[in-house]
Amino acid sequence: MRALSPSFSEYTWAPSTEEIARTYELDPSQVVRFDGNVPAQPAPFARPGAIAHALAAVNSYAHGGFPTLVEGIARYAGVGPENVVLGAGADDLILLCARTFAGSGDVVAVAHERTYPLYRIAAYLAGAEVGDVDPVVTFCCRPNNPTGELGLLPDARPLVVDEAYFEYAGETAVGLIDDGVVAIRTFSKSFGLAGARVGYALADAETAAELNRRQAPQPISGISAALALLGLADPPDVAAQVEERDRCARALVALGLEPLPSATNFLFVPVDDPEALGQALLRSGIVVRVYPDGIRFNVRDREDDDLLLATLAQALDRPAPVAEAAGRTVRHLRATAETRMRVRLGLDGASRVVVQTGAGIYDHLLEQLAFHAGFDLLLEGVGDLETGDHHTAEDAALALGEALDHALGDRRGIARYGDAVVPMDDALARAAVDLGGRPAAELRFERDPGLAEHLLRSLSQAGRLAINIEASGRDDHHVAEAAFKAVGRALRAAVRAEGTGVPSTKGVV
Ligand code: PMP
Repeated sequence: MRALSPSFSEYTWAPSTEEIARTYELDPSQVVRFDGNVPAQPAPFARPGAIAHALAAVNSYAHGGFPTLVEGIARYAGVGPENVVLGAGADDLILLCARTFAGSGDVVAVAHERTYPLYRIAAYLAGAEVGDVDPVVTFCCRPNNPTGELGLLPDARPLVVDEAYFEYAGETAVGLIDDGVVAIRTFSKSFGLAGARVGYALADAETAAELNRRQAPQPISGISAALALLGLADPPDVAAQVEERDRCARALVALGLEPLPSATNFLFVPVDDPEALGQALLRSGIVVRVYPDGIRFNVRDREDDDLLLATLAQALDRPAPVAEAAGRTVRHLRATAETRMRVRLGLDGASRVVVQTGAGIYDHLLEQLAFHAGFDLLLEGVGDLETGDHHTAEDAALALGEALDHALGDRRGIARYGDAVVPMDDALARAAVDLGGRPAAELRFERDPGLAEHLLRSLSQAGRLAINIEASGRDDHHVAEAAFKAVGRALRAAVRAEGTGVPSTKGVV
């Protein structure tokens, strides 16, 4: 075996979600990762159905490579296909560039004091050393990880610029590819495809050809290529993430901290004792990246980020700069071949409700139910709407039911029963619910817009509750809406925390 430089240290992974959950005695669903610099969830295009054709060809090689993907990348980046080199993530292309430009006895330069560790790793693996004297190639991370800074581009050539966070910064060195610059980009960050492992390098035609000659024949899988192509058909709009990052930065300033200016989807925050702070956050299931002089975390969405900010404030013993999260809150993911539903449910909420699955009126009905129950609910999902709204609406109700069951825990101390009468113009609905743990649905709707009864049946099944309804009226939408509101009002009463006992003479529910 060829010896590695004594200065070499390998890439080290953060602990897995399962390991963190075990160590801190948490449910894995309560572990929220802010340490991967990736979006909180996959983009809507990343669905099983969308890659069915790639899966149907999984027995074969992509003979001839992935010309359609190469052309798509070229168009997206504003270069020609002859300028594109594919790789299994930006990491693969960093390794490829290092071994192409450097070898034994060479020096590789790494710009910026503190940066992404893979450039050093790649240099040592190529047999080279890391330094500043007569380098054969220079690596530069722009914007930089972990600081988020969009620094000056070094004059050194050849220069490899890692633009993993290009979409957030909007600045690129691609205009310099005919001047000794190679730009490396990835589908892992803004496109939300980190697990698919697709990246690319952009270089002048001669350099790209040389890199391609030294690259593995099929560096990515057909399934990954299909996902990347879907991403290119609908490139990400990062405006909301950038806005959310700036909101978090302002909240951190309100906490008395000084986050560094960032051109990415993450923030670096200098703090006094990062190790202790990181541990305190971990105890609450919040995972950030710890550095000797600060912590780094990526933005997710408003609710998750508020959870981080409130926990951070608590750990620092300062007043929270954001609203506190609701009590009895759970996270739940339900994924099937047809749909993917992500639920965040707080039973003691303030009716902050968003339901977004694309299932039209059924999103609206579930929103009504949660709103009138007083829950905080974020129910986001995607489904195979091309087959109609049945799968999507049903799975949304099942996911909500599962989350409700989870949030109720052993159901100790709850009121258990609730009932309500709700009119809606011509319609009247009477509902009673029992959270006793047995699913039952006695639903008498005079008319139904389609799946309203079915959704409540699904909710009762997955949430292990009995729902009794009588709903009548002349308009099917009104009948359904009155019914969902009535179930919401009834649930509001039934989930109420009343004491500590089991609400049954049997002693169990
Ligand atoms: N470059 C930088 C600066 C990064 O932060 C990362 C991932 N954390 C990568 C490259 C690797 O990205 P990929 O998933 O495309 O290999």
